[in-house]
Amino acid sequence: MTVFFQLAYLVGAVLFILGLRGLSDPKTARGGNLRAALGMGIAIIASLLYPLENSHGNFVWIIVALVIGSAIGWISSSKVKMTGMPQLVSIFNGLGGGSAMLLAFVEFLKFNDSGSYSAGLTSLTILFTLLVGSISFSGSILAYLKLDGKIKDKHVTLPKHTIVNLLLLVVTIGTVGYAMFNPSMMSLVIATVISLIYGFSFVAPIGGADMPVVISLLNSVTGISAATAGFLYNNQIMILGGILVGASGTILTVLMCRAMNRSLMNVLIGGFSATGVAAAGTSTDQGSVQPTQPIDVAILLNYSEKVIMVPGYGMAVAQAQKQAKELDEILTKKGVDVYYGIHPVAGRMPGHMNVLLAEVDISYDKLLDLDDCNSELGDTDIVLVVGANDVVNPAALDDPSSSIYGMPVMEVWRAKKVIVFKRSMKPGYAGIQNPLFFKENTNMLFGDAGKTLKDIINEIKTLD
Ligand code: NDP
Repeated sequence: MTVFFQLAYLVGAVLFILGLRGLSDPKTARGGNLRAALGMGIAIIASLLYPLENSHGNFVWIIVALVIGSAIGWISSSKVKMTGMPQLVSIFNGLGGGSAMLLAFVEFLKFNDSGSYSAGLTSLTILFTLLVGSISFSGSILAYLKLDGKIKDKHVTLPKHTIVNLLLLVVTIGTVGYAMFNPSMMSLVIATVISLIYGFSFVAPIGGADMPVVISLLNSVTGISAATAGFLYNNQIMILGGILVGASGTILTVLMCRAMNRSLMNVLIGGFSATGVAAAGTSTDQGSVQPTQPIDVAILLNYSEKVIMVPGYGMAVAQAQKQAKELDEILTKKGVDVYYGIHPVAGRMPGHMNVLLAEVDISYDKLLDLDDCNSELGDTDIVLVVGANDVVNPAALDDPSSSIYGMPVMEVWRAKKVIVFKRSMKPGYAGIQNPLFFKENTNMLFGDAGKTLKDIINEIKTLD
């Protein structure tokens, strides 16, 4: 029987790894997700049943919790819009950290009540799980509230937050250490509450464009807490699953920092400061913008040879990928080369633009990554910036006072003509003005990107 369950763990582990592998490419991501989910299903059932005496006859409770959890997961995942995915990831991640925290809390009390408590490896593992799980829980909940716009950065940031956080970290480790050597309900509650406060305070000064990095970091922290919780129960699949989440979260964090040309430390202690927030009009001290109309863009496109579309978060909001594809097909038929420039942090989650474009079956051969796109821009006739803003902001290269200074961007202004699709002069996610809009070769096409793209398509159809 034991062999059977060990085999189930092995199959689960292999499915996790194959799942992760599938997630590395948009073509195989859906299958990868399903494989990982199947692995998780097998791991849950095997952990439930083996060894049977571990259930303590609590099957009714366990099954009720499983049904409620699965229903919440299923309903919220099916309802979530693509633009709300980072929030969903944050909240799911927080729940993982929260459950590790609760497990550790209960195990600590059990260990203390057993009469055999000693300050050693077991209590250290339990308290480490509690610490990491609590930080991940409260940090993820704050990340969710910020991403969902329920809390603004300025409402949770203290002056000298870096120093406050450093002191709080020392206090947190101190209270956890105290609980280890003076086990009691009171010392445990204090350690938990202080760890929760630290998680909150750790995420508070990070904001704007740095949020994806912090979510990925918290994800890896949750993985670590799941792995250490696995040690408590001597459950190999929990250890392995936790390590895989921890490692992949860490790799993603490093890759995102690289994409923004920032060190992790800089992201964590840098704080978020928007500079030069834009006015809502069409004229600022940077000069005036040049608005254009669909008919003029249609004429330009009709006589172009090479066009690159740079999609951003606004394309997801407008759900304009269908219209983008339709325009692409019309232009391609006219002999125009059409490509898409994909910035690694365009949108609100890694791979967001790839997912949008895959939804309408845009060929992967047409997708250019940041470096390839930048090397193509010099001889491009027209760049259509569809709902992107921060990822095409030249201030990242030439304004050291900008909060996104140093982040590699799509250098769209090097093309002969740039058309920016957006609804107003409001800034993007980082809350900063974009000098691209004021450049001589840039025209602004105001309106919902889905509608303006459709208008261009209709105009092009009348030209020949
Ligand atoms: P931005 O958020 O910088 O800009 C999006 C632009 O889209 C806005 O200027 C907005 O202008 C416009 N827009 C919104 N709705 C519409 C619409 N219906 N039609 C036309 N335009 C619209 O997006 P980017 O993709 O350029 O940059 C992503 C930002 O998000 C970066 O700062 C990145 O660091 C951050 N981020 C990235 C994550 C990731 O993992 N990819 C996760 C979290 C944050 P207007 O309102 O005037 O229409």
